[in-house]
Amino acid sequence: MKALVFSEFPEMAAQMVTYLKKQGEVDAATAGSKADALSHYGAGKVYSLNGQMQFDNVSSWLVETYKAGGYDYLFVASTILGREVAGAASQALGAGIIPEITEFQAGQSNAHTKRYFLGGKTVLEEESDSKVFTFAPGIMDAEKVDSQSPVTPAELKQSAVTVVSVEEKQSSGVNLEKAKVIVSIGRGVGKKENIAQVEPLVKAVNGELAGSRPVCLDYQWLSDERQVGISGKKVRPNLYIAVGISGQIQHIAGMRGSKVVIALNKDKSAPIFDESDYGIVGDLFQVIPKLVKALGA
Ligand SMILES: Cc1cc2nc3c(=O)[nH]c(=O)nc-3n(C[C@H](O)[C@H](O)[C@H](O)COP(=O)(O)OP(=O)(O)OC[C@H]3O[C@@H](n4cnc5c(N)ncnc54)[C@H](O)[C@@H]3O)c2cc1C
Repeated sequence: MKALVFSEFPEMAAQMVTYLKKQGEVDAATAGSKADALSHYGAGKVYSLNGQMQFDNVSSWLVETYKAGGYDYLFVASTILGREVAGAASQALGAGIIPEITEFQAGQSNAHTKRYFLGGKTVLEEESDSKVFTFAPGIMDAEKVDSQSPVTPAELKQSAVTVVSVEEKQSSGVNLEKAKVIVSIGRGVGKKENIAQVEPLVKAVNGELAGSRPVCLDYQWLSDERQVGISGKKVRPNLYIAVGISGQIQHIAGMRGSKVVIALNKDKSAPIFDESDYGIVGDLFQVIPKLVKALGA
């Protein structure tokens, strides 16, 4: 199997390289300025793409390189740009595309893939002759290797897209996908002012604060970049503490890659307990101070 991988974010390309290189030869492409960062993960070669990245010039470069390099598969990280790039590339290649895969296995002639389906309620296992795939973000860790891949510069063509203006989104700089410990709050917290009562726990476990969709989107107690779930961030921390979260499937789809899950909920039949390694049944406002005390914070 010979694969070409692309992401504008080197860390996402590195994750795909780490995952795929067990199955064959993998070359990877990313933004020019970030190519060095990608050269430590065992890719056969790293392409550093110079020029302003748009879906049209990136996809046309990928298609040309894919054909010239005799690649079997093209993998793109599922970001806003990546999804556009992958769609355009599959159309140009006349090849099928499978989005948001979480697993890939190259077969003799067909590819075996898995992805979440029906809003994360089930896993769809497919065998297809598709050649283009987008990888759901954050589904594996990137592992550095001792050697360094050669970096080949490549020039992108002029894009037909003219960027009229760019407005920076206000960001708190939180990166939930990289967080090792997350304390995630749900509607059970009751109101924005009550978040102050959860913060000592966040501090005690040295975690990042996250939330369910009602908390981040409907009530805007937290910014949308802190939302975990099928329409938010997909996270894989070592420890995920769910506080006042019922555990609906759309939330679970974003955190089921967590290594250890602790749920705190006053309803002992809340579905979050089915997804948890440890459960605490109780009122969060009474339990959290005890937890913080027990942690010695
Ligand atoms: C298309 C679509 C996409 C969606 N995407 C997402 C997504 O990305 N992320 C997401 O989270 N949701 C998403 N949802 C919404 C999802 O279906 C649920 O509505 C949501 O996850 C519920 O959030 P919650 O657990 O905070 O609230 P609730 O379901 O209301 O649960 C609150 C929990 O808090 C507990 N509780 C209350 N008071 C206390 C207390 N004092 N102490 C302890 N526990 C207490 C209750 O027992 C309850 O279990 C999506 C829905 C749709 C239709």
